[in-house]
Amino acid sequence: MSTIFDKIISREIPAEIVYEDDLSLAFKDINPQAPVHLLIIPKQHIATINDITEENREIVGHLYWVAAKIAAQYDFAKDGYRVVMNCNEDGGQSVYHIHLHLLAGITMGWPPF
Ligand code: C5P
Repeated sequence: MSTIFDKIISREIPAEIVYEDDLSLAFKDINPQAPVHLLIIPKQHIATINDITEENREIVGHLYWVAAKIAAQYDFAKDGYRVVMNCNEDGGQSVYHIHLHLLAGITMGWPPF
């Protein structure tokens, strides 16, 4: 099942891309919830966390590695940041292609509801 993120990967629709490699893409969220709000997505289509399997699980570690790389590059690694992946309706997921939200640039509260 194709989503809007597949169209961003194929450049059919524009996005402000900040990082790309063979496995993943990171771009600015169009509706930012923090001074820095990036989405890190795999190029491979995985709809939700529930679709992570033994075969594709390494991609999730890769997404976190990209988050750490970007944090170092943007210089907020030491101050801190939040990485979130929503799952299904109760988790607040609206695009069914897994993605890490990387939020930074503000002191965040907890819990998130
Ligand atoms: O976790 P969830 O699925 O709700 O997150 C989807 C995110 O994708 C939203 O934060 C939304 O603003 C973002 N988005 C985007 N560019 C699009 C469509 C959605 O950055 N073209």
